[in-house]
Amino acid sequence: MSESDRRSSRVPTLLGIPYDGASSFETGAGLGPGAIRRGLVRGSTNGWSETGLDVLAPGLLEDAGDLDLADGSDVRERIERRVAALLAGGAVPLVLGGDHSITYPVVRAMHTRYPDLAILHFDAHADLYDEFEGNRFSHACPFARIMEAGLASRLVQVGIRTLNAHQRSQAARFGVELHEMRDWTGPFALRFDRPLYISLDLDVLDPAFAPGIAHPEPGGLSVREVVAMLAHVEATVVGADVVELNPHNDPSPVTELVGAKLVKELVALMVRQRAG
Ligand code: MN
Ligand code: MN
Repeated sequence: MSESDRRSSRVPTLLGIPYDGASSFETGAGLGPGAIRRGLVRGSTNGWSETGLDVLAPGLLEDAGDLDLADGSDVRERIERRVAALLAGGAVPLVLGGDHSITYPVVRAMHTRYPDLAILHFDAHADLYDEFEGNRFSHACPFARIMEAGLASRLVQVGIRTLNAHQRSQAARFGVELHEMRDWTGPFALRFDRPLYISLDLDVLDPAFAPGIAHPEPGGLSVREVVAMLAHVEATVVGADVVELNPHNDPSPVTELVGAKLVKELVALMVRQRAG
């Protein structure tokens, strides 16, 4: 495929970011990219999305591998540069975390390419702390950094069920559109008239469905409900991440299968919009 073909075709491209240095409670999310890749090729299932797309068919999904962060230096700068390079090549990045701190540098690159970027964020947590235990770049803070830097024209959060007074005031300050679990009545459609980035923290799911995470928060969404929410997104999806899979807490590989399934549905969403 020539460079110009690639640019026009906007190929979904996996990028693993094996980083958990900004986790506040326990590490292990750095092993997430490998777990999701295992889930994608596990022999017990196939590569098809529910919408009828074989995500593993040749040429449909590219894989840029994992970012090498072994020496632990300049992590955010290196993430931003790598995503910027993928975007310059015409890719639609599908980033595999990693803890949620990686979303801030990823979105910095996304915003440079798409200045009117909107964000749809699935999470049990709002991740809006101004700082957490002295760290402004903790995985509890990425959406505070994103909003104060003006990197998102609109931030919609779904699945939230841990708001304290500080985070509630941060959400009001930044004009976040909150869909809290206490108000949940079922999946609903969300329409975005601007390029959309989807950030999917797997702890948005009830831990009954996805125990392999660091911060289990009961009362969450089912896999079916997240798949339905994705199916009802009306937008051009220009990038996404799936973060916080911690294989240490995944007694059976159920969470890696959930992560892989959601990746398949995200790819299908990206390709559907490319076709449309
Ligand atoms: Mn999060
Ligand atoms: Mn979370």
